[in-house]
Amino acid sequence: MNSLNLVWLRNDLRSYDNVCLHSAIEHAKRTASQVLVLFIATPDTWQLHDMAAIKQDFLRRRVLQLQQELAELAIPLLAIEGSSYADTPQIFAALSKRFVLNVFLQTEYELREQQRDAAVEQLVLSSGGQFIRFDSQCIMPPGAIRTQQGAIYKVFTPFKRTWLSALHSQGVTCYPRPKTIEQAALMLPEFTPMQTGDNSSVDWPVAEQDVLNLLRAFCREKVANYTNARDYPAIAGTSKLSAYLAIGVVSAAQCVARLQMEMKDSWQQDKSGAEVWLSELIWREFYKHILVAYPNLIKHQPFQIETNGIRWSNNQALFQAWCEGKTGYPIVDAAMRQLNQTGWMHNRLRMITASFLVKDLHIDWRWGERYFMSKLIDGEFAANNGGWQWAASTGTDAVPYFRIFNPTSQSEKFDPSGEFIRLYVPELRHLQEKSIHWPHNNGLVLAYPAPIVDHAVARKYTLELFAEVKNRYEHSANTTH
Ligand SMILES: Cc1cc2nc3c(=O)[nH]c(=O)nc-3n(C[C@H](O)[C@H](O)[C@H](O)COP(=O)(O)OP(=O)(O)OC[C@H]3O[C@@H](n4cnc5c(N)ncnc54)[C@H](O)[C@@H]3O)c2cc1C
Repeated sequence: MNSLNLVWLRNDLRSYDNVCLHSAIEHAKRTASQVLVLFIATPDTWQLHDMAAIKQDFLRRRVLQLQQELAELAIPLLAIEGSSYADTPQIFAALSKRFVLNVFLQTEYELREQQRDAAVEQLVLSSGGQFIRFDSQCIMPPGAIRTQQGAIYKVFTPFKRTWLSALHSQGVTCYPRPKTIEQAALMLPEFTPMQTGDNSSVDWPVAEQDVLNLLRAFCREKVANYTNARDYPAIAGTSKLSAYLAIGVVSAAQCVARLQMEMKDSWQQDKSGAEVWLSELIWREFYKHILVAYPNLIKHQPFQIETNGIRWSNNQALFQAWCEGKTGYPIVDAAMRQLNQTGWMHNRLRMITASFLVKDLHIDWRWGERYFMSKLIDGEFAANNGGWQWAASTGTDAVPYFRIFNPTSQSEKFDPSGEFIRLYVPELRHLQEKSIHWPHNNGLVLAYPAPIVDHAVARKYTLELFAEVKNRYEHSANTTH
């Protein structure tokens, strides 16, 4: 039987800097064997994971685009319509009947993904093939950044320091785009071809070169001002690369390499735009490291386990108002409407809306985490879970529970003229900046919802909720020791 070098793509949908693709082609050259790239759509599992419809469409559009891009290099990409992870081994079984498979794949860290990969690995190995994993989601793979005592960092700042010294000593390398290959046509079993999506992500370009151009333009034109601009949702001051990083159209290594190239002098300078942007990429890695070290997070457990005892109110009507952007707090509503209408939300607004759900409405952060996942084009477990647990004060290196965002002063500070609010809350478009952040005085806007909670009262209650659980935990710790 012929051997086949199979690149199984999942969240690494790119041709540049793709270690799996690069290694499979090198292996094929050495052994005079063939290469096939594989993607399997699994809509039932995506649904189970609450993957947003816009992200599902984005994935499908990107795979079809990559199929064309690889065809230019004579590299075949087989895109199969599957259903769930449970069916995946059957696809490999069908291929194993014709070929001895050398499967090249990027490690995924979540639970069901690990189970799926273990099942396929067993099948491939038992048919005489190889299963070759690469830990390439991060520049520094999870577990590689440790304290001097060999422990995992639970706090970001020292993690970042060690991460940066690893970067200095080893640098960052990116694999080149493969060259055109020559191989005979493959005789493959029949599979159901992957379907197209609903086109809901059409505003997001999916050609690899376009995305690399976005990265270059951001590093050349915007990153220098990132420190000043990144907190203002009305300004396009961030890279908007998260959706591409989440499915691997671009890698973190490519981002850092480009940053170093364009900002040679400033990327190491404390608080420069380049250095602050690099920190965000390190946050991305930090949350993945934490996820791998504490797999209970995948089972929806808080990092600070005692916070499981918080007595959330979980009021369904308040949750609904938050989801729909009808809370009566303009910045919260504008943000939620941005999410619902575009599938993306600015980072400052993710912090404000998450804080509002947890600390003003007293709703379990896991409800918000799930809602975000079901709407975000860049929905990504580690970052979403990390962001929610940060805002809810349940996570590692989270905001202290007594630091509670005041949505109105956040609005005045980060959307001072109300420009962003006006974009998404048409009921308030006519208001001046002095009243747009709190339009409820003097019956200004009848068409706009009245505030669903009183922030000052809600704040006080949050402090009590957290204090109560901390006391209970400390008391039970004292009585058990
Ligand atoms: C409650 C909450 C939920 C979030 N959910 C997600 C999510 O599902 N997917 C996601 O990619 N990010 C998430 N984030 C992080 C952050 O909001 C987005 O990464 C960012 O807004 C994306 O915009 P950008 O690409 O312009 O970011 P930039 O400011 O240009 O940052 C560059 C890249 O760094 C990474 N990054 C930036 N900030 C963070 C952060 N705080 N944590 C981890 N990585 C970061 C992203 O990959 C981002 O694309 C969440 C944050 C919060 C507070």
